[in-house]
Amino acid sequence: MRLLEWQGREIFQRAGIPVPPGELATSPEEAQAVAARLGGPVVLKAQVPVGGRGKAGGIKLAATPAQAREIAKDLLGTKLKGVPVEVLLVVKATEIRSEHYLGITIDRSPRQPVLIYSPSGGVDIEEVAKIHPAKVAKVAIPPLEGLYPFRLRRLFSIAPAELRRELSRMAVKLYSVFQKYECSLVEINPVAETEAGLLALDAKVIIDDDHRPGDQFAGLSEAAEDPLEAEAKAAGLSFVRLAGDIGIIGNGAGLVMATLDLVTLAGGRPANFLDIGGGARAERVQKAVELVARSAQAKVLLVNVFGGITRCDEVARGIVEATGVLEIPVVVRLTGTNEREGKEILARAGLVPVDTMEEGAARAVALAKGGT
Ligand code: GDP
Ligand code: MN
Repeated sequence: MRLLEWQGREIFQRAGIPVPPGELATSPEEAQAVAARLGGPVVLKAQVPVGGRGKAGGIKLAATPAQAREIAKDLLGTKLKGVPVEVLLVVKATEIRSEHYLGITIDRSPRQPVLIYSPSGGVDIEEVAKIHPAKVAKVAIPPLEGLYPFRLRRLFSIAPAELRRELSRMAVKLYSVFQKYECSLVEINPVAETEAGLLALDAKVIIDDDHRPGDQFAGLSEAAEDPLEAEAKAAGLSFVRLAGDIGIIGNGAGLVMATLDLVTLAGGRPANFLDIGGGARAERVQKAVELVARSAQAKVLLVNVFGGITRCDEVARGIVEATGVLEIPVVVRLTGTNEREGKEILARAGLVPVDTMEEGAARAVALAKGGT
């Protein structure tokens, strides 16, 4: 469950992590009023559960309340990476001296939380790690030991000396959030160095879906989900939006993961993970294809189904039913139960299936790159 920035901010504030003053707005008039109340330049921030909003045009500076109103008018109702913008967070603009990265996630090999810091914040941390690995520091936190000061000293040895103490205080608070809310990720990118000290200018909080129920959420607003992910869940489908342009549908989490791997190996980038589960009937398959179509980011759809309790003819029927809403090419690999019937249904609709997963991945990648 990924929280929106303003919900993450609420949790940060409760934990004593400093954030710039701000309020929500759902109309241009509200944005103007909030800007007037805050005084001075403000930043308008689209509240959508996707990353890289700045680059995508979802973060805008306004010098005056009137300008805040104009920008809000432009932002509200548009889509950012396919997600409609309905709420803006309006915060007092900050003068930034430097931007840093601070995050905590679970490192799956040592099976421990890991604290990550970089003095090059405000940009994609994966990129920094790739280009300047020395600018990213990590320390594992054995959960039974906790966050001893020596671990923080090690982590912040690459931080400017005058910021180490304040960064350490922030990290301790962030770790308390991570534990209390049973997060799989908490991230502040950027931590901004300002005249008044360090501020969390962004908040990314992902709560583990298997967190224990508790009253830690009392008083906090309902978590927002990517509307497509929520719709998928209601239809019994597991859908996760990814950053690429090749839509993927399969049955069984393992097969879908393998398909994502094959596509990546073939030089492509998956647009989503979508598992139709076991024994899916045509309607569920149709719904899955529609979700990929509506996510509006796939240039090609790759369907990979291994028929067991799932019948290939049902899958084929679902695909054919949905082709009306699909404006992108479809690559299908079908094998197993009722394979022959399934392939006949596809053939009648003019769809020629591929024989292997590898072939399917290669064809999908070629199509995404504009080939045939
Ligand atoms: P993201 O792109 O979704 O990660 O959104 P962020 O909230 O992190 O904003 C992106 C970038 O906008 C930040 O890294 C900052 O460089 C910039 N930014 C955000 N708020 C402010 C602000 O108050 N003042 C200034 N000068 N820049 C800001
Ligand atoms: Mn950010």
